[in-house]
Amino acid sequence: MAKWVYLFSEGNASMRELLGGKGANLAEMTKIGLPVPQGFTITTEACTQYYEDGRKINDEIMAQVMEGVAKMEEINGKKFGDHKNPLLVSVRSGARASMPGMMDTILNLGLNDDVVAAMIAGNPDPTFERFVYDSYRRFIQMFSDVVMEVGKKYFEKLIDEMKEAKGVKTDIELTAADLKTLAEQFKAEYKNQLGSDFPADPVEQLKLAIEAVFRSWDNPRANVYRRDNDIPYSWGTAVNVMPMVFGNLNDQSGTGVAFTRDPATGENKLMGEFLINAQGEDVVAGVRTPMPIAQMEEEFPEAYAEFIKVCELLENHYHDMQDMEFTVENKKLYMLQCRNGKRTAPAALQIACDLVDEGHKTEEEAVLMIDPRNLDTLLHPQFDAKTLKAATPIGKGLGASPGAACGKVVFTADDAVAWAEKGEKVVLVRLETSPEDITGMKAAQGILTVRGGMTSHAAVVARGMGTCCVSGCGDILMDEENKKFTLAGQVFTEGSEISIDGTTGNIYAGIIPTVDASIDGNFGRVMGWADKFRKLKVRTNADTPADAKKARELGAEGIGLCRTEHMFFEEERIAAFREMICADTVEERETALDKILPYQQSDFEKLYEALEGNPVCIRFLDPPLHEFVPTEDADIQKLADAQGKTVEQIRAIIDSLHEFNPMMGHRGCRLAVTYPEIAKMQTKAVIRAAINVSKAHPEWTIKPEIMIPLVGEVKELKYVKNFVVETADAEIAAAGVNLEYEVGTMIEIPRAALTADEIATEADFFCFGTNDLTQMAFGFSRDDAGKFLGAYYDAKIYENDPFAKLDQTGVGKLMDMAIKLGRPVNPALHVGICGEHGGDPSSVEFCHKLGLDYVSCSPYRVPIARLAAAQAAISEAR
Ligand code: ADP
Ligand code: MG
Ligand code: MG
Repeated sequence: MAKWVYLFSEGNASMRELLGGKGANLAEMTKIGLPVPQGFTITTEACTQYYEDGRKINDEIMAQVMEGVAKMEEINGKKFGDHKNPLLVSVRSGARASMPGMMDTILNLGLNDDVVAAMIAGNPDPTFERFVYDSYRRFIQMFSDVVMEVGKKYFEKLIDEMKEAKGVKTDIELTAADLKTLAEQFKAEYKNQLGSDFPADPVEQLKLAIEAVFRSWDNPRANVYRRDNDIPYSWGTAVNVMPMVFGNLNDQSGTGVAFTRDPATGENKLMGEFLINAQGEDVVAGVRTPMPIAQMEEEFPEAYAEFIKVCELLENHYHDMQDMEFTVENKKLYMLQCRNGKRTAPAALQIACDLVDEGHKTEEEAVLMIDPRNLDTLLHPQFDAKTLKAATPIGKGLGASPGAACGKVVFTADDAVAWAEKGEKVVLVRLETSPEDITGMKAAQGILTVRGGMTSHAAVVARGMGTCCVSGCGDILMDEENKKFTLAGQVFTEGSEISIDGTTGNIYAGIIPTVDASIDGNFGRVMGWADKFRKLKVRTNADTPADAKKARELGAEGIGLCRTEHMFFEEERIAAFREMICADTVEERETALDKILPYQQSDFEKLYEALEGNPVCIRFLDPPLHEFVPTEDADIQKLADAQGKTVEQIRAIIDSLHEFNPMMGHRGCRLAVTYPEIAKMQTKAVIRAAINVSKAHPEWTIKPEIMIPLVGEVKELKYVKNFVVETADAEIAAAGVNLEYEVGTMIEIPRAALTADEIATEADFFCFGTNDLTQMAFGFSRDDAGKFLGAYYDAKIYENDPFAKLDQTGVGKLMDMAIKLGRPVNPALHVGICGEHGGDPSSVEFCHKLGLDYVSCSPYRVPIARLAAAQAAISEAR
């Protein structure tokens, strides 16, 4: 019989796959003797089983849960549902990878009218009665919300009404009688919403709660989070059931959240927040503004001293910054959670460097600690220093997630999405955020909240997403209903411009322009380590000299893809290019191409210069020609005049370029087959540029790489290659120089992968164009997939967008096949990838395993790819 339930005393940190992160760490803390309320974990396998059984907990699992309850009762000397000494528990989700706020937790489970009455009868202290009703109303609210999916808002409304009636501002001022009334009202609301009584049987409550946590694995926000964070659906969540400890017992109690180092900057100093007489989510929910952790020392000196010891112990144990949740009940400290803390990218780098310097980690381990996706934020813009200096903040909140953002104010998550879809940059301004806001937070450049501290939902989620966030700006007078707020006397409405600084917490009216970041300090140091360990080279996709320069600064070791067509869109060039397209004869076309040649040549020269002798791979013209023809009447007229043709003639040519399925039409090397003169012109430009730059810089070895796109048959490659080589050799001979060059191909049509042994006889290199390869392997286009992918996610057919994350099973098999077929035929063959996937960490790892020579990605993803490549190499060697 499978073991579905583990006591905390039966597990340890290495069992995170089975027990989830929270469960494994509760077990580990138990093992090292920390004060953890003793409960049990229901495994992630039970979650999988729950889904296999049609979303039901089967009898065998439930029986083991009840055994767990019996043991927990014995250990704690309290009984579930008992009237003398009742045990109350929390039921907590906990997946393998931490997904903060994405799934659900229920506190104070086990209460009902009888238990409440018995508890009060057993303790005459008047504050105790208040505590019991406080716990009861919290439980009814959480259970209704999480388990029965009755919206929180109904209960919050009742609380607000009660506060108003009593003329108080915070929950804490409500009396025992008020809370008792609230509990009654909550139960009535429950019945009103669901038509049945609130379940009184603790075992039934428990079963429903466990099911709800399992179910929450599949809630929409968890699905979005998993997709963004590469967490497979198949993992499932564990459930932790543990005795409650009560931070809301009295004024000698409280609850807190802390980090052993600053999660925003990485500074080695305890950072956290604490609330007296409060429970669980109060700290993160922003209901009351918590006090800084240091103040806890004054209020609870003993618990604080113990907590400091625990922090040290945990850091030395895990060798990493810890994020901890704890509660003080009657001055005694209890640990409720620890994990390696989420952190901003600057903090991740600072901590990695410090841990190496402190002897906690080797350089390899430090490299493995950093989530490459996280680096993205460092490569995001910062405020232009000059403009910033001249600007005066109109307000200040907490710098909760660094970076800079400017844009138009929106007040709801939906508006953020809607405005962003229109191409507007927006800043989402809210009283506080909740997990339902996640898509809106993603769509926004930055997030500004009125309430909440450094550990509020907005702050945690924003840091995770690398989105700039300023939280807890209490000076804002918010009117969410009318989409309006006032700060420093200025009124902001939807669409008003604002800038926020997630590092300092400063808020500015208007737009402060942003500038690019660069690699230095800790970032440079960590990148240096990464470069020592990685095997894959990292190139960039760059079409302009400016992009190429930026990519070099970020560590690119070559250009893996230069899309030449992007060079044609400038005013003068597009005219010549259109003349070329609308030419009737080869001579006319060549005349037009002669005008383009010098532009191309000078662009290529600049690329070679920017790359300082590193390889530059230039792809020949790829897109269908109709993408370049004019659509405006005036432009058509201009073209007709330039060509000495009538408008009708030009229109006829344009019409003739129409294709039913342009992505699979007259493009790629097919253009070179029909119009060899285009490829010849491009060859001349490449070779002449290389010769010129070689002359100017004899210290560089310039070896042009010419890449023929969209090959599916070796004969078409051979056909094009023949005149490319002929043209190139003639240029080299005429210049009287020695110049080596390569001609290779993209592998982006499945047939090319399938016949790679033939193609490799003619190709010096392969470069996987995984955008097209994915498109053609799946048979749907990147531009249209958005219409149905949502339904595919819902139906669990796909977990990810295959255009963002390489489909290793299918597309990956084509890549593997192409390499295995190609290399034996041509041992000198070098192989890279230049699709969008080249900068996706999990895809980079896959490319490492396939044995590619390099990945090529957009300039800003180069550091991400360098780090991911290093991690792949280090992990493989372990
Ligand atoms: P999340 O994963 O969203 O952080 P948790 O399961 O950690 O959810 O629960 C949220 C909070 O509830 C905890 O930080 C803690 O303050 C409180 N909590 C959970 N279990 C207990 C417990 N047994 N006793 C007291 N408080 C608890
Ligand atoms: Mg929570
Ligand atoms: Mg937690």
